[in-house]
Amino acid sequence: MVQAPSGVVRQAGPRPWPLPRRIATLSVHTSPLDQPGTGDAGGMNVYVTEVARRLAEAGVETEIFTRATSSDLPHTVEMSPGVLVRHVISGPFEGLAKEDLPAQMCAFATGVLRAEAAHAPGYYDLVHSHYWISGQVGWLARERWGVPLVHSAHTLAKVKNAQLASGDRPEPLARVVGEEQVVAEADRLVANTTFEARDLIDRYGADPDLVSVVEPGVDLDRFTPGDQLAARQRLGLPERGHIVAFVGRIQPLKAPDVLLAAAAALHARDPEIARDLTVVIVGGPSGTGLDRPTALIELAASLGISHAVRFLPPQTGTALADVYRAADLVAVPSYNESFGLVALEAQACGTPVVAAAVGGLVTAVRDEISGRLVDGHDPEDWARALGGLLAEPGRRVELSRCAVRHASEFSWSRTASGLLAVYGGAVTEHRERLTARLAGEAAALGAGAITW
Ligand code: UDP
Repeated sequence: MVQAPSGVVRQAGPRPWPLPRRIATLSVHTSPLDQPGTGDAGGMNVYVTEVARRLAEAGVETEIFTRATSSDLPHTVEMSPGVLVRHVISGPFEGLAKEDLPAQMCAFATGVLRAEAAHAPGYYDLVHSHYWISGQVGWLARERWGVPLVHSAHTLAKVKNAQLASGDRPEPLARVVGEEQVVAEADRLVANTTFEARDLIDRYGADPDLVSVVEPGVDLDRFTPGDQLAARQRLGLPERGHIVAFVGRIQPLKAPDVLLAAAAALHARDPEIARDLTVVIVGGPSGTGLDRPTALIELAASLGISHAVRFLPPQTGTALADVYRAADLVAVPSYNESFGLVALEAQACGTPVVAAAVGGLVTAVRDEISGRLVDGHDPEDWARALGGLLAEPGRRVELSRCAVRHASEFSWSRTASGLLAVYGGAVTEHRERLTARLAGEAAALGAGAITW
């Protein structure tokens, strides 16, 4: 349910929330049908997909608008019962980076408005936008349709720019301003953690009464503990020795280079532990990582650890769960994470996580209970944290047990329930405002009371 740190976030009260019948979800720059773990597809895609499925189970239809990135895509795809993906043609199908998309917002917004106009008025009860570019379109749709706008930022430029990897490009001013506009316009803002809620309020001036914390979840049916040896065999990974895995989009922000440097440092400081160590890197290039897609391979070679590093392309289905099961530890050294679904998934599979003590990872990982949090990105610190746990199998078993328990507290059904409370509050308030306005107009004309 909606969690509310006192004085920061609006509490979900006991009032019966009206259930929206159908919501329009905007995910302009990345499709829920894309494979996560490469390019622009990551946790947000998983979030949108999983939440839509759970909302449909609760009787709320979702239509997800996303940009068409190929001429082969049908206009609409039924992703699962009650969940429709609408491909909106806006700009060339291929060749546009996320940074180019603001120039296509007029075309995208027109596609969204036309889809609604094909139905009777009131087709959507609410718009939920994901990421600031979608928020810009949601703002327009909200005005046109007379429904509330709920916005999830997922990442915030001001936060990202404050924690940049060295040499990484800062987010442009246009994004900062675009985010500020959406924050000012949205009827409700959904934050993944209390930290994000604080950032929205302190850095973006959000009204605390309009910010709700709804934590993301993890697929507890798919990500379950399993036999480590069998998982390694299925993936063709070394059956013996330690494995530390990194899973995610390969880009400087995620700091996979810190893990490689830590592995090299571990070879120097503790050759016995490092002797049988394999670092497994899963994912594809993304963001500024696309500038030099072979950078990590080159780094492993320059550190003299190429023999101890395996690169796997983005994984799907049970293969991804197998990656977590095959690993003794999963490392999440990111400079910033709005939440860090990978950390939750690994823990649900019973693998302790060593994560940077930043953003949502502080919530996703319980320090020294389900994993270990590391301050900063010094490879020596990371080598100490990883090496210490690799040397202590008994400690890893304890952490593993607690990791499963900790992850079990985060289900997508819980996330969907939290969102429904936010939607209900937004719809109720919107109707109250409208009723008051109409009542005022009716009174001016001498008519009776307005009822819904
Ligand atoms: N992912 C995947 N296959 C991969 C790598 C990642 O399906 O090979 C998924 C992973 O399961 C997780 C998401 O991508 O759900 C990444 O989410 P996270 O919050 O960790 O990072 P983000 O991409 O949002 O920055």
